[in-house]
Amino acid sequence: MTKYHILAAAFYAILTAENFPMLLLHRKELVMAYVIGEECIQCGACEAECPEGAISEVDGLFVIDPAKCQDCGSCEAVCPTGAAHPA
Ligand code: SF4
Ligand code: SF4
Repeated sequence: MTKYHILAAAFYAILTAENFPMLLLHRKELVMAYVIGEECIQCGACEAECPEGAISEVDGLFVIDPAKCQDCGSCEAVCPTGAAHPA
């Protein structure tokens, strides 16, 4: 192994360590934690309960913004029909 290989390996290790938290953040943004299914009866209980303001009514249907959802489960706990659940 040459000095070049050692330096390249060290550089890669530093880059990977620094980027690891960002990779997790990006993954969180891409994963939809909770969704609302077709069992929804539009009662609005979940919207009032969500601490992140992630749930809103759009054209008569309740939807969850995956960028705001923090996976707390409060919507699932208050939903009377089981429509709000983990994706
Ligand atoms: S899991 Fe929590 S943060 Fe996500 S939509 Fe339901 S109540 Fe809001
Ligand atoms: S609590 Fe359940 S039934 Fe009520 S609006 Fe939310 S998802 Fe629909």
